[in-house]
Amino acid sequence: MPTRELDLCVTNACNLRCRYCYAAGRNMGRTSLTAAEMRRAVDLYLKGASRTCDKISVSGGEPLLLWRLMPGLLGHIKSARPRGAGTELFTNGLLLSQDKVLSMLKAGVKVRLSLDGEKESHDACRPSASGRSSFGSVIGRVLALPPELRARLDAVPTVSIVSYRRMTENMLFLLALGLQAVKPSFVLDEVWPARDLRELARVLAALRRTAARHLRSGRLNKVALKDLSGGAADFRMSNEISIGTDRFFYPSSLVAASSPALSKALLEEWRIGSLSEGIDWEKLDALRDRAYAEIKSCGAELYLGCLLCMYYSSRIRKVPLKPLLKSGEKVARAVLEAGLGEVSP
Ligand code: SF4
Repeated sequence: MPTRELDLCVTNACNLRCRYCYAAGRNMGRTSLTAAEMRRAVDLYLKGASRTCDKISVSGGEPLLLWRLMPGLLGHIKSARPRGAGTELFTNGLLLSQDKVLSMLKAGVKVRLSLDGEKESHDACRPSASGRSSFGSVIGRVLALPPELRARLDAVPTVSIVSYRRMTENMLFLLALGLQAVKPSFVLDEVWPARDLRELARVLAALRRTAARHLRSGRLNKVALKDLSGGAADFRMSNEISIGTDRFFYPSSLVAASSPALSKALLEEWRIGSLSEGIDWEKLDALRDRAYAEIKSCGAELYLGCLLCMYYSSRIRKVPLKPLLKSGEKVARAVLEAGLGEVSP
């Protein structure tokens, strides 16, 4: 059964080394897809999924490192995607410019900026490739954009155990940049100690009070939480499939981004197609069904975000799934109780 989303992991090169990265942060050597390979991946996906496609995403690594290929790719997606489907591009902002933003907006792309907030949190989580601060360069690029362009971009901050204490300050800082919306999510593969969970409840209550008007206006989005109420059939179609820089399709963008560092055995287990042979939708269904059964057997009822990311992260890092899901469930409940979460299948 086809999925709703395709993620093109166009390169694993990046100019940052984020602490929670599965791609460039792991120093796996630089590889990228060619323009023809990107277009072929889109066409192969749409051949099977044009009736279910909601979205095509461009990610990496840092996709703007391949800017010379982006106008062609984004134009191709715009002409090939079915009516109603969207395109989004994730960037760390270091190479942002007015011309690039205008070009992406013209191609109907939603630009998502991976910014975590103020300098302290940003630099703790998103140092440059040389290990230095990246805050000034990134924020300088964002502020150099005319306000009317900034107002069409979103920030997608990642909250972690390292940065959650400054969550209110970080969200207010991002809102003050004049962006269209701020869409926070949590790192999905951290296990939270009890004292941090208690502190998180206090932080979330303060954020709720301080940012009430931004929540009401919709500029500060609630955290997207998950449950399994859609059942196995919905889970089969959940999330994206992704192509990695090794030219194979995988059942999750986390797997595609990690692919250069994975063992041959895992790659063979998880590959669901290639640019030469197309996409094996039956194998994808079988992998989704297995993930669903294993996730369900852990007994959590609420999840902090993408279930496939948590599932494949536990397999890749060889950490047990149940404690990861149970810890995520506690964080998700704290988010929900503070009125800052929204649950969907
Ligand atoms: S910006 Fe993205 S790809 Fe680059 S290191 Fe950070 S998380 Fe990884």
